[in-house]
Formats: sequence, C-alpha cells, structure tokens
Amino acid sequence: MPELPEVQTIKNDLEKAVCGAKIIRVLVNNPKVIRQPAPAVFKRSLEGLGIKRILRRGKLLILELSNGKFLTIHFKMTGQLVLRKAATAKKNLESSQPVNINSRVTFYLNRGMILDFNDQRLFAELRLINDWQELAFIQKLGPEPFDLTYADFKDMLLKRKTAIKPLLMDQAFIAGIGNIYAAEILFHAKINPGRSAQSLTQEEQDVLYKQIQAVLKSAIKHGGSSVDDYVRVSGKNGDYARFHQVYGREGKPCFVCAQPVKRIAQAGRGTYFCLKCQV
Ligand SMILES: [Zn+2]
Repeated sequence: MPELPEVQTIKNDLEKAVCGAKIIRVLVNNPKVIRQPAPAVFKRSLEGLGIKRILRRGKLLILELSNGKFLTIHFKMTGQLVLRKAATAKKNLESSQPVNINSRVTFYLNRGMILDFNDQRLFAELRLINDWQELAFIQKLGPEPFDLTYADFKDMLLKRKTAIKPLLMDQAFIAGIGNIYAAEILFHAKINPGRSAQSLTQEEQDVLYKQIQAVLKSAIKHGGSSVDDYVRVSGKNGDYARFHQVYGREGKPCFVCAQPVKRIAQAGRGTYFCLKCQV
C-alpha cells in the first residue's frame, strides 16, 4: 500500500502536471471504487470542474476542485494514478483514445491529458465530498510526522505499552507510516521492533524521532518505494527500494553487520529487522 512518501510523491508530481487543469469528461469503467456519491452523480458532478489544489493527509490524496468540493483518493492495496498524453486534443476523447484495460476510472483533462485510476484489486476508495476533514477515518488520524514536535512525540510514547513497530503503523498514533517505513525507520534508529514504546530510553526516543523524519524525507526525495503496485504519475517506479536496509531482505546480509536479516510475523504483518543491530 502506498505510504506517506509514495502519496506525497504522487501529490508533488500531480501538482506540477494538473494543477489548474479542467476535468472534461469522466469515464467510469468499474463503479466499485467509487464510494460516494453514486457513480453516475460522481461522473456528472466532476465534469467541467477545475483542479485547484492537491493535498495529502496520512495516506489520503485530496484534490480540491474549483467549486470548493474535494475528490479524495485512498489508494489502499493496488491503486495507481497514471497520467498519459492524449493522442488528439479534440472532442470525443473517449472514443478517439486507446482503451486502458487496467483503468477503473479515467479522467479526461484539458491540455490533452488523461489521468487513469488503476486498481487491480478494487479495494481503493474514491469520493467526491464537501469536506474531506469530516471523513470518519480522517478524524481518527494521529499527527502528521512532519508536524509533530519532539516533546509531543515523547509524551505519546510514554503512554503506550504496545510494541513499537505496530504502534508506528497505527494511523491513530501517527499518520502515514506503514509496513515498509516502520521497518526501515526502526533499523536506522537501531531499535528492535518488538520493544514496548514505554521502554525506550531518552536517547532512543530522540533517535527514533529524528529517523522518522530522515527516512520519510529521503524516501520522498527518491520518489517512494516501488515494491508492489506503486508507480509514480509518470508510470515509472519510485527509486527508494534500492535504499532499503531490511524491508524485503530476509536472509540477505545486513549492510552494517553482515548477519542475515530476519523476518518475523508481528501483529499479523511481516517484520524485517537485524537481530544484531537492533536491540
Ligand atoms: Zn545488522
């Protein structure tokens, strides 16, 4: 699932390409991904609107539209947004363009651009709503990592007995971190994923706070990690997977100590770590 760095990359890429563009036509190829309103209303309401601003909160992408409404996109497991150039900029865009069989919803924009929303497993959620901040899961979200102060982070840790890795992935605790970045952050912070949050020393809290910021920033800089279905708006892969220290590296030598990287099941998810480097 795209995590904060991937959704932020999509936001950054889209901002450059489609801010100020107008949605001319919407083609719904599979209505299952449209959660709100009814697909026919979704399509009709979007046609003719401009894209004013692109936002992100946690793993949610938000397009602010020219009428003040919002198109929200939750990518879930396999959602992708890919931009392509129209073969012609003329009318009857739908019939004049090659069909993309993976596209669940196709947005035809002016300036000769076509934005495909692909989603192989159909878990994604698209909504056209008045106020994205009223979404139930948004109200439950914890702070954005880049807005969180060190003092608040320390307080949050002290209240929790939970193991640190599932806690970092808990969206109500902190927003945007999933399985990949929880593992990478804990490796860089040299903290064993099974440690309870309360047990971290002052020094470990400090290092963890810094590594959350550093790892996420670096991942954004490299366009995110293409390990499953995630691709950038250009259709190209993000580049950060080649910097992974532990995620997806079970049995391979740790880059620091050469011991094989371990994989365990933790809270129902695979956790990768180095037994020697992470204490
Ligand atoms: Zn190691």
